[in-house]
Amino acid sequence: MSYVGPDFDPPQPRRSRRGPLTVALAALVPGALLGWLVYEAVGAPGGSGQAAGPASSSASVSRPLSASPSGSVTDDGKVSPTASAKASGTPSASAPAASGPLKGKVVVIDPGHNPGNFRHTAEINRQVDIGTNSKECDTTGTSTNSGYTEARFTLDVAHRLRAILEQQGATVKFTHDGDSPPWGPCVDERARIGNNAHADAAVSIHADGSAEGNRGFHVILPAAVHAGAADTRPIAAPSKSLGERIAGNFLRVTGEPPSNYIGDGTGLVTRKDLGGLNLSTVPKVFIECGNMRDSKDAALLTSGAWRQKAAQGISEGIVSFLRG
Ligand code: ZN
Repeated sequence: MSYVGPDFDPPQPRRSRRGPLTVALAALVPGALLGWLVYEAVGAPGGSGQAAGPASSSASVSRPLSASPSGSVTDDGKVSPTASAKASGTPSASAPAASGPLKGKVVVIDPGHNPGNFRHTAEINRQVDIGTNSKECDTTGTSTNSGYTEARFTLDVAHRLRAILEQQGATVKFTHDGDSPPWGPCVDERARIGNNAHADAAVSIHADGSAEGNRGFHVILPAAVHAGAADTRPIAAPSKSLGERIAGNFLRVTGEPPSNYIGDGTGLVTRKDLGGLNLSTVPKVFIECGNMRDSKDAALLTSGAWRQKAAQGISEGIVSFLRG
């Protein structure tokens, strides 16, 4: 979503002030258990207070409290030292040994926008070539009416999603990690990062900025375009499969309905105007997890517990796609 209001005063990124709530993770807990732990650690403090567990069967696992220096999850979803791995595209420093169903698979997660874009409007407004036409390098994204920005949302879901996928053995790369780089990257570069990583799947995470009353999620699929540097013909079909699986699992895990304002109730929309899709040579989709400008959706999007479900739903779609 593009929201570039000149008078928009971006809230400062909230740094974790909840030292006591930082929960150390055991070094070698099983994947499902870690997923639950991450949920407990990051979902509850920032969430809506709901006690509901994740949709997985791991909800009944008791919570070990043994501390470990190997990593920790804070209430804003960051995993240390993962979050301190500043270089764009760098695999998590805390990635477990590659094992599990996604061993050998590369997933690129593209957190939509960047919290720093608000301070770099000149840079993000420059035009880049997306094959079919030119477009802004990047946009600031939208926010809830209370000021929770899309850029913060997308990074938070991205961190949660990375933790889940790495536990399944995947190699996960980010297009950016908030302050690295300090803005962007541009949409063409976001596509290039996925291409250069030879990603088996790439997902760009967003939330929409439509009118109150418009709610629900939708997954954006690349149209088959062939113009300039854009040639999505080879990836259109696998991207559609990836998108359908993400949509189905997102719906099942979060309970969020498909969009009531776009996609005719399917939760799927095909577009040819997004550089991040047009320039991709690997299977890639966008997901708009909800509408930040709708009060009902905003209540979900600002809940840490809900964001954990969102990450879980997206991950299960990715796993379904990668396992065939
Ligand atoms: Zn967006």
